[in-house]
Amino acid sequence: MRVLVIEDEPKIGAALKRGLEQEGYAVDLIVDSDAGLRYLLTEPYDVALIDRMLPGSMDGVEICRAARKKGNSTPVIMLTAKSAIHDRIEGLDAGADDYLPKPFAFEEVVARIRAVLRRPQVVQGEILTCRDLEMDPANHLVRRAGKELTLSTTEYSLLEYLLRRSPHVASKDDIIAHVWDFDADVLPNTVEVYIGYLRSKIDKTFSPALIHTVRGVGYSLH
Ligand code: CA
Repeated sequence: MRVLVIEDEPKIGAALKRGLEQEGYAVDLIVDSDAGLRYLLTEPYDVALIDRMLPGSMDGVEICRAARKKGNSTPVIMLTAKSAIHDRIEGLDAGADDYLPKPFAFEEVVARIRAVLRRPQVVQGEILTCRDLEMDPANHLVRRAGKELTLSTTEYSLLEYLLRRSPHVASKDDIIAHVWDFDADVLPNTVEVYIGYLRSKIDKTFSPALIHTVRGVGYSLH
């Protein structure tokens, strides 16, 4: 899953990027409000964390309002040093899905992200499943037929994206956009290589195979 972080405080921004990457997210960190809005509108993020006070022509609430006005529905969590109730309400009224008052614990950031990612798929609950494959995002566990599997962070992120899209087909471009950040060197065959790694872990010694290649389109998990 790909996360946009718009945060101008270098320490907080770097800590969020590093921590979320360790959790398997692809993270783009932007420090300026105008560039932040541009990225939010043009890249397919799964969630955005937006600081309230930012350099540039807008604050975080205005970014959120502008994005919603353009029909962008990316889940937004506002990061705010202001804890007054009217500031929180203003953020939520502008279309933010949640807010986190600073200072916050990293674990809480991760929990809020999981919560907003869960919301559109109410029926899915906390465990993502496909046949006998299960992913427990809260505990970072993947099992097939009850057997726990060890995945790298990229394999995990790829599998999470395919599970959330399932049974729909994910194109290579969709996969690149949601699993890798914009600094990553993604070669034309990178997706195939990682699909291969993932198959060797979740499909090779199990049946039926869950990852299906849809020739000329992409991949689907079902
Ligand atoms: Ca700030």
